[in-house]
Amino acid sequence: MLNTLRDITQSVASANSLETALSLLVSQTKLAMQTHCCSIYILEQQQLVLSATEGLAPNSINRVKMPLSEGLVGLAAEKEEAVNLADAKSHPRFKLFPEVEEEEYRAFLAVPIIFQKQVVGVIVVQQPQPRQFSENEEAFLMTLAAQLAVVVRNLKNKAAISNVQQQVVFKGTSASKGIAIADGFVLGGAISLDQPEEQATDLATEIQRLKAAMQRCSDIISTLSQRFDRENVDDVASIFSALQLLLGEASLGGEYLREVNLGWQAESAVSRVSKRYIEQFIAMEDPYLKERASDIRELGQKVLRQLIEPDKIELAPDKSVILVAKEVDATLLAEFPRGKLAGIVTELGGVNAHAAILARALGVPAIVGVDQVLSADVDNKKLVLNANSGQLLISPSDAIIHEYLCLISESKAQQRQFSAEISLPAETLDGQRIQLYLNAGLLSGLSTDMAEGADGIGLYRTEIPFMLHQRFPSELEQVQVYKQVLSAARDRPVVMRTLDVGGDKPLPYFPITEDNPFLGWRGIRLSLDHPELFLMQLRAMLTANADSSQLQILLPMVSNLDEIDRTLLYLEQAYSELTEELAREIPKPKIGVMLEVPSLLFQLEDVAKRVDFVSVGSNDLTQYLLAVDRNNPSVSSLFDSFHPGVLRALKWTITDCNRFQLDASICGELAGEPMGALLLVAMGYEKLSMNQGSIARINYLLRRINKAELERLLDQVLSLSNGEQVRQLLNQYLQQRNLLSILD
Ligand code: PEP
Ligand code: MG
Repeated sequence: MLNTLRDITQSVASANSLETALSLLVSQTKLAMQTHCCSIYILEQQQLVLSATEGLAPNSINRVKMPLSEGLVGLAAEKEEAVNLADAKSHPRFKLFPEVEEEEYRAFLAVPIIFQKQVVGVIVVQQPQPRQFSENEEAFLMTLAAQLAVVVRNLKNKAAISNVQQQVVFKGTSASKGIAIADGFVLGGAISLDQPEEQATDLATEIQRLKAAMQRCSDIISTLSQRFDRENVDDVASIFSALQLLLGEASLGGEYLREVNLGWQAESAVSRVSKRYIEQFIAMEDPYLKERASDIRELGQKVLRQLIEPDKIELAPDKSVILVAKEVDATLLAEFPRGKLAGIVTELGGVNAHAAILARALGVPAIVGVDQVLSADVDNKKLVLNANSGQLLISPSDAIIHEYLCLISESKAQQRQFSAEISLPAETLDGQRIQLYLNAGLLSGLSTDMAEGADGIGLYRTEIPFMLHQRFPSELEQVQVYKQVLSAARDRPVVMRTLDVGGDKPLPYFPITEDNPFLGWRGIRLSLDHPELFLMQLRAMLTANADSSQLQILLPMVSNLDEIDRTLLYLEQAYSELTEELAREIPKPKIGVMLEVPSLLFQLEDVAKRVDFVSVGSNDLTQYLLAVDRNNPSVSSLFDSFHPGVLRALKWTITDCNRFQLDASICGELAGEPMGALLLVAMGYEKLSMNQGSIARINYLLRRINKAELERLLDQVLSLSNGEQVRQLLNQYLQQRNLLSILD
């Protein structure tokens, strides 16, 4: 019986269209139950549609439709329970649909297919002899329906979404899952030069407004210009000086003011002057002068932005939007007003770039590598971003929007299902307790994040608050931030990582130009080269922790033991300075290193002699083991933490850590992925640190699996030859345990 059930479910799940899946389902069920007729009805817009049958008239497929209030099939859906009748015709709800030719059938058994409390269809078996189906037969069909619910729902969604192909669809790679429906907001989307022509009511006020706007513009231009100057990007710096000159009173700036003096309101004045000069320059013969028209346009737009939205940063939209850009960096995302960011779409960027990690941490759906998306006019257009499948739909129909709204509400229901168990400890069925920690970087939302079932903060990325400043934060400013982080965690441990800038995490005020930034001046290397900054950060961490003992300090990008030894000296120095200044003992935090650089995996015995713990950074470890830039979309398909070589390295690491009694956790993205978490637990990792959005899901999963069983699965996994095979095997494992929906 169990084998038959498994065979049917597997063959249905492996079909690649809903139609094939359903016809396989009815023929195999009919055979297994030795009945004369099996049919399936799928619920579509509140109607049950006959979608596959063996035994009823084949040409009635997709023609016979009934509302839930009609017929016996409707009754099973409406009551959400099986209807088992010896003689269907004698039931008051019986309704004859002549086109299906079911006159000969008497015995009738219908079972609803329910996914997360929602009926998705009904499966029916029928026979000519009047008899009640046995309890065993009823139980069989109910088990089958329960197992099939997720498969049918997934195939149904796939079918709905593939109907969309006619519309404008862009494809990219999913960097942060989820679905968003909102208007597009093209980064750098310019303000229109066409402003209404209005007379000034108060000349002095208009002059003052215009001068203030020009001044703010001038400040912005010089900040940008200084930044590029420092980076020695001369070409760019000269663009800004040209704009600055244009803004002067001897140039366009003077023209704007003159126009106001002629009686125009400031916006109208800028608009009129810009349009007039653009026209003149475009008409010029000289190609160089012709091109200056774009400088005039850009300057006009900058000044108008300051006049129209003086209090907003240039990026701030007035509603929730899907940000569409060539590329975004983590700083920009961190600065973007949180409630306004519904989704992110970029032409460049990789799924493991810091911007993508931040998107996941913020729970904002994102797709990257969307070729040519900027050439489609998406500014202010209604967009549907399906980051689960990597699709972006532009101006979809209402019916499609409705489908996606249903998907959104389903996934919210699923999240609620996971969250319902969040207060229970993450413990496998055979009693292995796994500690789940939070990865964090932004202060806002930390207190609510912490309320949601984490055992502590496993990775606090201090570079995020550094990125939000216009200069290095002072020691006092850092103390304040770190104190807030510690207090948000209440009495739970907090692992704070020292500054990990460099690579793809630039500080706006500390530009680094390198050919190979990921192999360059990053993390601890930079801190050790700037002891004044490093000591300040260590002192700030120790001060913040002076009245608690939660702090643990983590060092990023360590590639040799000498870096650890030198750090320990600085830590000792900061510690003794502070105890002297405060004239009292303060807690000494535990110290740990990130395992991100492969060489360190082979020195764990020496590492164990120096530090208290390690945390595996599987993002960088994968990048360095596979020699694949985590940001580069051209090689993103090669970046795979499920690569058996990477998995073996992770297994090696935890085995050696146990051998040398070195406390170990893992804080890369792999820990928050359901399949990743399963493998890590099988390897022996007992501390997983992940984004807030993953904690409830992983907890839910771990409470339903058996560690001993996973260990056997891991043996199989490690003998496979590529990441794809690993994922397939894990997929199969989840499917057999009815846990496939965890991946949605
Ligand atoms: C990692 O590399 O896995 C990690 C957690 O650090 P980050 O992603 O911040 O580089
Ligand atoms: Mg890292």
